[in-house]
Amino acid sequence: MRRTFSNRYSFLSVLLIAMVNLLFITACTGPISGVSKKPIDEQRVIALMYHDVAMEESADRGATISLEKFKEHLSTLKDNGYTIINMEQFYDFVHHGKSVPDKSVVLTFDDGYQSFYSLAYPALKEEGATASVFVIGESSDMFNPDALPHLTWDEMRELDKNGMGVYNHTYKSHFYGPATIDGQMKPALAYPLYLAYKKRMETPDEYKQRIYSDMAFMEKRLANELGKSDGIMAIPYGSYNEMVIEEAEKAGISLFFTTKEGLNKTGEHEVYRLNAGRPNYSGDQLMASINTLK
Ligand SMILES: [Zn+2]
Repeated sequence: MRRTFSNRYSFLSVLLIAMVNLLFITACTGPISGVSKKPIDEQRVIALMYHDVAMEESADRGATISLEKFKEHLSTLKDNGYTIINMEQFYDFVHHGKSVPDKSVVLTFDDGYQSFYSLAYPALKEEGATASVFVIGESSDMFNPDALPHLTWDEMRELDKNGMGVYNHTYKSHFYGPATIDGQMKPALAYPLYLAYKKRMETPDEYKQRIYSDMAFMEKRLANELGKSDGIMAIPYGSYNEMVIEEAEKAGISLFFTTKEGLNKTGEHEVYRLNAGRPNYSGDQLMASINTLK
């Protein structure tokens, strides 16, 4: 009897120690945020789109969010159980069917503004979070006194080394150009342009060659400056057609960030995004929009 009691007692104490250990580990690491238990086909990822970040926001700069509101987004996401995943995890989810945590979000910033480095990046580091920036090559290579400051390649190298993503937003196709003889302006990547000096429209071959060269050249600039190019692009103004995708694929690009709203599934290389980088857009408004995504 005594022996049985003692065996049972030691079994219970081992169990108790194990439970205390488990509680301790859980307390130290927070909730276990492993990958989803859902089958991969049922997993969904949210992608958020930002542009510029400023200390002060103003309603007339529609693609700017204040640093304060951006920080509010980060804390609201965390409080609501969202996990910010990096671009590599997102890429593997889309292309290789690798599971992600439930409620995964990927953060993206278009246009390569310097404010990503000076304001967003320190806030992200503070939260241990990552984001990706889509850079317009020409805006970083050339100085334009009339434009907002853009990232330098030194800054991009530092971002890349510290876990942020730096990707393609075309080299110099981020503008509206004359797309008809009477001068209607359209996004230059998505439409053949009117060639004033030849007094005619671009031929389909000329258009194809122009957009291929541009996207391929930006991949080359990224490879030269960062030592790698990943074939990930945000499409200027979210405006594209089948030829853009075909030519981009020839240039080695395989993941396309659009401006259409929705949730992202594995296997779908055209990425839906929610525009979160608007003035006065609170964490609660962000959550409300996220909850309507399909
Ligand atoms: Zn853009």
